[in-house]
Amino acid sequence: VKEKGLNFIEEIIEGDIKSGKHNGRLLTRFPPEPNGYLHIGHAKSICLNFGLAEKYNGGTNLRFDDTNPVTEDTEYVDAIKHDLKWLGFNWVNEMYASDYFDQLFKYAKKLISKGLAYVDDSSAAEMAELKGTPTQEGKPSPYRDRTVEENLSLFEGMANGDFEEGSRALRAKIDMSSNNMLMRDPIIYRIKYANHHRTGNKWCIYPMYDFAHGQSDSLEGITHSICTLEFVAHRELYDWFIEKLEIFPSKQYEFARLNLTYTVMSKRKLLQLVNENIVEGWDDPRMPTISGMRRRGYTPKSIVDFCDRIGIQKRDNLIDVSLLEFFVREELNKTSTRVMAVFNPLKVVITNFEEGHLEPCTMDNNPEDPESGSRIINFGKEIYIERDDFMENPPNKYFRLSPGKMVRLKGAYIIQCEEVIKDEAGEIIELRCTYVPTSKSGKDESGLKVKGVLHWVTISESLEAEVRIYDRLFKVEDPSSQDGDFKEFINEDSLTIVKAFVEPSLANATAEDKFQFIRNGYFVPDLNSSREKLVFNKTVGLKEGFKV
Ligand code: ATP
Ligand code: MG
Ligand code: MG
Repeated sequence: VKEKGLNFIEEIIEGDIKSGKHNGRLLTRFPPEPNGYLHIGHAKSICLNFGLAEKYNGGTNLRFDDTNPVTEDTEYVDAIKHDLKWLGFNWVNEMYASDYFDQLFKYAKKLISKGLAYVDDSSAAEMAELKGTPTQEGKPSPYRDRTVEENLSLFEGMANGDFEEGSRALRAKIDMSSNNMLMRDPIIYRIKYANHHRTGNKWCIYPMYDFAHGQSDSLEGITHSICTLEFVAHRELYDWFIEKLEIFPSKQYEFARLNLTYTVMSKRKLLQLVNENIVEGWDDPRMPTISGMRRRGYTPKSIVDFCDRIGIQKRDNLIDVSLLEFFVREELNKTSTRVMAVFNPLKVVITNFEEGHLEPCTMDNNPEDPESGSRIINFGKEIYIERDDFMENPPNKYFRLSPGKMVRLKGAYIIQCEEVIKDEAGEIIELRCTYVPTSKSGKDESGLKVKGVLHWVTISESLEAEVRIYDRLFKVEDPSSQDGDFKEFINEDSLTIVKAFVEPSLANATAEDKFQFIRNGYFVPDLNSSREKLVFNKTVGLKEGFKV
């Protein structure tokens, strides 16, 4: 990997270190909202935050941004922690924005006391009306000049459950004519009678994102709070709260979201795919989630390498998913065990091979890895090869099997096709072949030169398996940018299930094991695969679709 220059956030950090800001201390945070599973976009943010901490001898807090009781759930908290650990990252502290509810309540009262916040009785529609538009100044709410005492008592009343949901809100008193719409007296607390996954029914008022995020950063002493570009306009508000509350000055920096071709990344949309059973769940191997990719056979290293390679940008962009697949393939090529699986079987009987005899053949587990050793596979009288590896009337330069021609069976013998057996409909149902006894791989004394090498399984020892082959979940590169519902662009054929016959060494394979099915691609046992019912997911094909 070639040395890359510093990215713009690293430049800022190195500047801060040089100037002695925070005494060289660095603390970042990764702040997921527990309202869904982590996806590859989160992975980019994770690699950035944890990566900076690693590089500059700092740390990263995991903070659950759980200020919206309606959509959040403990199931998501557990899944997020699991995925982070699987990716290989360790956080310094596990924090919850909801742990700051008492402190945030005090901060709100401090703003009120400074004459910088007020309780507004306007309806949402009235507030929106008065707020104006970017080209038109806003007008003050009729409640804007309430006294500090009145505001304090109404705000306590809000917290005590004296008022109905939506009837009142606490707003910061900033500037109704600001060019930044977010500065036109944003709501900072609203009434919500909802059970929170951690605080239960203790609160019936909840802080808005903008009133929680910066203060949480500040309370934790976060030095560099990195978020995505949609928050650029929020930065002014972030700084305003910190200044007015006179608290630790965390700073916000923004980078571009990761978007990948042929998928969607919004958790709202992913949740829709799950709820409407368009996919099997958050961890469906077609999902862009970390859990989906894990189930698909992607490795943590390939995901981290991908994130490092794409780096960070200041402008939104769409990354080709085949670049991610490139990193997956690259790692699996180095690490996966080579095995044989036949997808579309054609029976071959070796007529001169002894009935009932099984000849042990040695197979390298992985020619890319000298440490990986070998295993024994038995060769027998009746085997399967791929139907596609035989042609009755082949074109020139066809090196697979055809009448009268020879091929090598991987790790075993050279065979020659002597006879083609068909059923009444004319379909080929079996081949009769002879083998060359002196041609065994590793001690071939036959002197024969054959070009084609086929994979095979011995029928009596092979295991039946279900193989799930995946295609893109969407038919268009950028389903989110199209007009209309994103679900119109779903690829109806994103899952194909085929039956395969695999070699017996796969009997006890688990989801941790990674395989190359020789000549067919990379495969991983599904989470629910068992000895009784073997199921494999196709991770990625062998062919390189992308050059870097
Ligand atoms: P969504 O729109 O899916 O709800 P979100 O940004 O609200 O996304 P969070 O759980 O709040 O989701 O995200 C946690 C962190 O991950 C945030 O800092 C966010 O900026 C970052 N993040 C989320 N999606 C992406 C993405 N596609 N690319 C880079 N960073 C992302
Ligand atoms: Mg969100
Ligand atoms: Mg968010």
